[in-house]
Amino acid sequence: MTLIRPDLDTLPAYVPGRTVPGAIKLASNEVAAPPAPAVLEAIARAAAGGNRYPDLGVVELTGRIADLYALAPERVAVGCGSVTLCQQLVQIGCLGPGDEVLFAWRSFEAYPIVTQIGGAEIRTVPLDADFRHDLVAMAAAVTERTRVVFVCSPNNPTGPAVHRDEFVRFLDAVPSDVLVVLDEAYAEYVTDPDAVSGRPLLDAHRNLVVLRTFSKAYRLAGLRVGYALTSEEIATALRKVAPPFGVSSVAQAGAVAALEHREEILADCAAVVAERDRVAAGLRRSGFTVPETQANFVWLPLGDRTAAFATHCGERKVIVRPFATDGVRVTVSTPEENDLLLDVASSFGS
Ligand code: PMP
Repeated sequence: MTLIRPDLDTLPAYVPGRTVPGAIKLASNEVAAPPAPAVLEAIARAAAGGNRYPDLGVVELTGRIADLYALAPERVAVGCGSVTLCQQLVQIGCLGPGDEVLFAWRSFEAYPIVTQIGGAEIRTVPLDADFRHDLVAMAAAVTERTRVVFVCSPNNPTGPAVHRDEFVRFLDAVPSDVLVVLDEAYAEYVTDPDAVSGRPLLDAHRNLVVLRTFSKAYRLAGLRVGYALTSEEIATALRKVAPPFGVSSVAQAGAVAALEHREEILADCAAVVAERDRVAAGLRRSGFTVPETQANFVWLPLGDRTAAFATHCGERKVIVRPFATDGVRVTVSTPEENDLLLDVASSFGS
C-alpha cells in the first residue's frame, strides 16, 4: 500500500498568473480596481463577526442569486469559486475509474486537474481553426463512459463564445444522463447577440449546469465565490459534496453587497468591452493574429514564440500569461495599462 494516491504524482499543478512588484499584472483576467467602497464596508462588517462560523446554508446570497435569475433557491449552489464547483461536479457525476470527462482543448486549465483528482479519464476535442469550440465533434466524442462535459463560453484562454443554436443542438445530441456544464465565468463581457446564455435553457435541460463567478466582473477574486444554476437534483448533490462552511462569511457578505451594485459593475464591463476592441485592433495593427474575443482578455496564438513574448513583456514590467507553446493570454485592463501593453507588444520582434 502507498500512503498517498500514486496518481497524484502526475497531477499537473495549476499555474497562477504571476504577481511581480512594480509590474502591471495582465495575467489572471482580474479587474485592476479594488471592490467598491460599499462592498469593502460589507466585507469589514462581516470580518468583525469572524469569530463565528458563516451561514452554512449561504441563505441570503443564494436567495439574491435566485431572485436575479428568477429561479427557486433550491436550484442555486454557491461554492468557493467556480473552480471548486468544477471539482464538485466531477465528484457528483463520475462513478469510478474509466468514467470520462470531456472538454475542448485548449480551454480552462483547471478542467484536466479536477478530472484527474476525481479519478476520471480526460477526453479532449481540439478547438477549430478559429479557436472556437467544435461542438459537432464534441457531441460525436461522447461515449457511454462520458459523465461530465465542460463547455467554456467565452472560452478561456482563446476568447470566442459558443453560439446559442449550436449549443442547443449539442444539448439535444448529448444523453440526458451526462452533466453538461456551461462555464460562463466571463459572461458579463459578452456582447455577441448570438452567444449562448445558459439561464434560458435550464428549464428544458435538467442535466445542464451554468457556472458563474464573482471573481471577474464583480472584482472579488480574492474572496472566492462562484455559483451554479441548475436543476434542484444537481444543486442538492453539489451542496452534499461541498466542504461544510466553505464559503466564508466575508465572501458571502462581499458577494451580496456586490450584487447590490450590479448596475455599476455592468457599466464598468462596457468600458472593458470598448477597451477590448481597441486592444485587439492595436495588436492586429502591430502584426499579431488576435482571434475574436467575447471576454476580458485577448489570445495571441504565438506558437513557439509564446515564451519569448511573455519574457519580452515581463522584462518591460507587463506580466502576461503564456500557455506552453500555444499562445499568450492578455487581460484587458484600464486604458493606461492597455496602452503600456500595446507599446510593449509593438516592439516585440523588432
Ligand atoms: N472558469 C473559467 C473559465 C475561468 O477562467 C475561471 C478563472 N480563471 C474559473 C472558472 C474559476 O473562477 P473562480 O474559481 O475564481 O470562480
